Amino acid sequence: MTETPKNPQPLGGNAMPRFGGPGTMMRLPAHESAADLDACFVGVPLDIGTSNRPGARYGPREIRNESVLLRPYNMATRAAPFNALKVADIGDIAINTFNMAASLEIIERAYDEILGHDCVPLTLGGDHTIALPILRAMKSKYGPVGMVHIDAHSDTSEAMFGESITHGTPFRRAVEEGLLNGERVVQIGLRGSGYSANDFDWARDQGFRVVPADECWHKSLTPLLEEIRGSLGPGPVYLSFDIDGIDPAFAGGTGTPEVGGLTSIQALEIIRGCQGLDLVGADLVEVAPVYDTSGNTSLLAANLLFEMLCVLPGVKSS
Ligand code: MN
Ligand code: MN
Repeated sequence: MTETPKNPQPLGGNAMPRFGGPGTMMRLPAHESAADLDACFVGVPLDIGTSNRPGARYGPREIRNESVLLRPYNMATRAAPFNALKVADIGDIAINTFNMAASLEIIERAYDEILGHDCVPLTLGGDHTIALPILRAMKSKYGPVGMVHIDAHSDTSEAMFGESITHGTPFRRAVEEGLLNGERVVQIGLRGSGYSANDFDWARDQGFRVVPADECWHKSLTPLLEEIRGSLGPGPVYLSFDIDGIDPAFAGGTGTPEVGGLTSIQALEIIRGCQGLDLVGADLVEVAPVYDTSGNTSLLAANLLFEMLCVLPGVKSS
């Protein structure tokens, strides 16, 4: 009689107090690579693309720290992701913190390898620059992808201080390099002061649907996500979640906070509304724990990453 191999499970609070045990995401087993995994948590501790307050390099570690409180079952959606998928934490990518160009290469190669194992990466950032090499790897495997992008900022600037690779430019480069299908990109939560109307209009000119934060105020976003599922349709979609899309009242631990943002509840609605999309990867970026005295930003980030896991293809909800 052959037994079905048991999937890796998070270490439970009845087996080890939540303040003890391994430092992995959700206290999952640590794996050397993505081999034999359906999905993995992976950290990219890079913040040399940051324009204002630095510190997102500490994001992966602190998100893992706050993730100790997460339990394996989603009480709201009835998703039991660890029953459906083999998931582990494969640690951090060894970026070169002194060299952005080298780091981009390192990240892209690492994601080539993860995708080579047919594993869906759930990334703990790191600043938003890391989305560019990740999308390069996605293009190699899937061709141009669609994207659901939550952020206070469009991240489609031409350059910052003359530099083309920064956390404010990844999606401009991604369009130029043909990594994204602009007609299948939606940006949610954009706001704040800008340099000119063109800050957001460039994205619209590429076919992106832009949903500014003020169009989300006082509303459930569940109907918006239903629309988005319809317009994105089948085909690979990448989910990129900048924590600064959320209001600083809920997530102040970030480098470029903007007032008037989304609520934690709207964040859950967005991610839960991604169920049914062909998600091929997701990230949660820009958590800078040093500005997060309560730990709430990292706690929210950890929960959002769990929610992302709960909507991956193959995981059932109620
Ligand atoms: Mn961003
Ligand atoms: Mn941002």
